[in-house]
Amino acid sequence: MKFLVTAGPTREPIDPVRFISNRSSGKMGYALAAAALEAGHEVALVSGPVCIAPPQGADFFRVTTADEMADAVQTRINTGCDVFVMCAAVADFKPREVRAHKIKKHEGLARIELVPTRDILASVALPRDRRVIIVGFAAESDALAENAQKKLLEKRCDFICANDITRMDTGFDADENEMTLYFRDGSQRHLQRDSKLEIARIIVKICIEIAEKR
Ligand code: C5P
Repeated sequence: MKFLVTAGPTREPIDPVRFISNRSSGKMGYALAAAALEAGHEVALVSGPVCIAPPQGADFFRVTTADEMADAVQTRINTGCDVFVMCAAVADFKPREVRAHKIKKHEGLARIELVPTRDILASVALPRDRRVIIVGFAAESDALAENAQKKLLEKRCDFICANDITRMDTGFDADENEMTLYFRDGSQRHLQRDSKLEIARIIVKICIEIAEKR
């Protein structure tokens, strides 16, 4: 099967030296790419700026902004993909205009007009002739179940992997993770704390099980 995985944050430039971004090390997305490769699948990895080396064997594409990530994802979906895992922490807002010159300190950064970025997961055009399995991620600090269920439907996902970001020992930057998966049929599955690679192996296995039932 062909996996398309996104990882890491995006950066939305304000001027040549400043940007808006999200907290994300990219470790979970890279672990997912590694787990899919290990299971013998083809993997395209679209990554925002991170400090880790891409897994060997992945078709690797580096991007910076949400718009670049959206275009890279659409291109890979158009060329064929069976499983689309949107693990990237895409910035929700970008400055309406990017200044060509560095804003001087005395000018102040107080007034930056922000516009929403395109929601990649919700807006990507999917092929009509084949059913792509779609996996979303959600980082929530409250009402985890409720928000995950809402995103599951809004973003057309087969399941959502929800992280409780109030936990400091798992999630951001950590090598371990613990999450709850919410499925379209209303069921859920808790994945106990484990390395991101182990968690990724389970997620890949679940994707394959869903594909086999189709
Ligand atoms: O809305 P929120 O960012 O919490 O949703 C998380 C899910 O949506 C993740 O899978 C993330 O990769 C995806 N997302 C996206 N495009 C955006 C923002 C989030 O695809 N602009």
